[in-house]
Amino acid sequence: MSAHEGRNLIGGRWVPALSGETFTRRNPADVDDVVGAFPDSSAADVDAAVAAVAGGAAEWAATPAETRARVLEKAADLLEARAAELAAEIVREEGKTLAEASVETRRTPMNLRFHAAEAVRMSGQTYAAPGSALVYTWREPVGVVGAITPWNFPLNIPSRKLGPALAAGNGVVFKPSPLTPLTAQRLVEALLAAGLPARALALVHGGPEPGAALAGDPRVGAVTFTGSTATGRAVHAAAGPSRRVQLEMGGKNPVVVLPDADLDRAAQIIATGAFGLSGQACTGTSRVIALGEVYEPLLERVAKLAGKRTVGDGRAPGVDMGPLAADFQLAKVLDHVRIGQEEGAELVTGGRRLTGDGLERGFFVSPAVFAGVRPDMRLAREEIFGPVLAFQRAADFEEALALADATEYGLASGIVTRDLGRALDFARRSRTGLVKVNQPTTGMAMNVPFGGLKESGTQTFKEQAGPTMMLFYTQEKSVYLSALE
Ligand code: NAD
Repeated sequence: MSAHEGRNLIGGRWVPALSGETFTRRNPADVDDVVGAFPDSSAADVDAAVAAVAGGAAEWAATPAETRARVLEKAADLLEARAAELAAEIVREEGKTLAEASVETRRTPMNLRFHAAEAVRMSGQTYAAPGSALVYTWREPVGVVGAITPWNFPLNIPSRKLGPALAAGNGVVFKPSPLTPLTAQRLVEALLAAGLPARALALVHGGPEPGAALAGDPRVGAVTFTGSTATGRAVHAAAGPSRRVQLEMGGKNPVVVLPDADLDRAAQIIATGAFGLSGQACTGTSRVIALGEVYEPLLERVAKLAGKRTVGDGRAPGVDMGPLAADFQLAKVLDHVRIGQEEGAELVTGGRRLTGDGLERGFFVSPAVFAGVRPDMRLAREEIFGPVLAFQRAADFEEALALADATEYGLASGIVTRDLGRALDFARRSRTGLVKVNQPTTGMAMNVPFGGLKESGTQTFKEQAGPTMMLFYTQEKSVYLSALE
């Protein structure tokens, strides 16, 4: 397959980095396969991109809402028409399986259509005022939005930021993950082909340097970020106290299993949440908290399901777990497998780098299940972001709740039980932004608000959907109006 030559989009032109530097992205299933070379941008490229969008955003803001909506709908049509090709590219670039990539290419056009409808739904309010005066609120775009995204949903997450930002009439500077630059470029190409004025959007490839420059640029009115908690903290600090920031960050998501649960069903729910996307979902299950006698039989069932996963190139038929997305992801997983054993946890299955049949050219691991994990162990506290599952034992429901909450994270949690009262109690008391009852912690509906609690998110108007989603991308004025008597 051919290697792509990527460019930044700045001021309506596809350009290399000002320095001329590039970075190379390789297929994580086969590092001999070069996906492409992309601009290794610096703060200077971001400076030019923000200046261009700051100049071009007004044209887009003045474009009628119906026209903005039509552009997003057309972009959705274009992405849908290329869905099969795009899914194959995502597998090659990010490593997930074709089935997983196809969910993403189906979902993204739906997102953009949803956001298109929001463009024409934007409204203000009127208020009672003395005499013949009228007071109303007027909602307008914030100006330039900075969007910084991770690699694990390279099309879907950017669409959830660019869609509503553009629907509201903002210009956007988009800094995607350096692991998935080609998919980012495809989204931008679709928006341009759909008629978006090219100066309303900039694409700047690269890593931390352009990300930090974008977060810290005072011309950027709102920064929307998805990524790790450590980077989110840096983004928040760079943006400073006076600019709005939306952070969606890491997780250490537990599933509590009560004694009344159907254990075969519970094991399936856990394995789906833990090993789907090779464990690289922010909402992925990384801990199981089993009550009393449920522990051993559940462990046995989950370990069996882990062992049945077919790991390989996501494009190959029958494969249900692709490689990890990068060498540093592989190193992190193998490190934590070692650390877990050193800390005294029992490795029940998996946790090995896979080789043979060409697998050594990619970042493949077998899904790992650990037993006997105590709350003070790093396995129980740190986000690994890979297929490593930690079993913890709880004596009763109260201890299970306490263990579930015993990390800095608060993204997703789950409970498996037939007891509706317990499930509702868990949902009410769980300090996570998403609670799943008898469902995997992964998998979110596109029409539902999304966001974590604690160190997993800022809940700044929540993203993805819901009545407050557009508030992040707009600012409001209160207008007092009187007739001259
Ligand atoms: P990351 O934090 O390493 O990078 C995210 C983005 O930030 C990338 O574009 C990166 O280049 C950029 N960046 C890096 N340093 C920066 C800096 N100093 N200033 C500004 N930007 C900077 O995360 P990742 O490895 O791409 O993604 C995995 C992480 O994302 C996991 O922690 C996962 O839980 C999280 N995630 C969260 C959600 C959610 O909705 N809560 C969704 C997906 C992924």
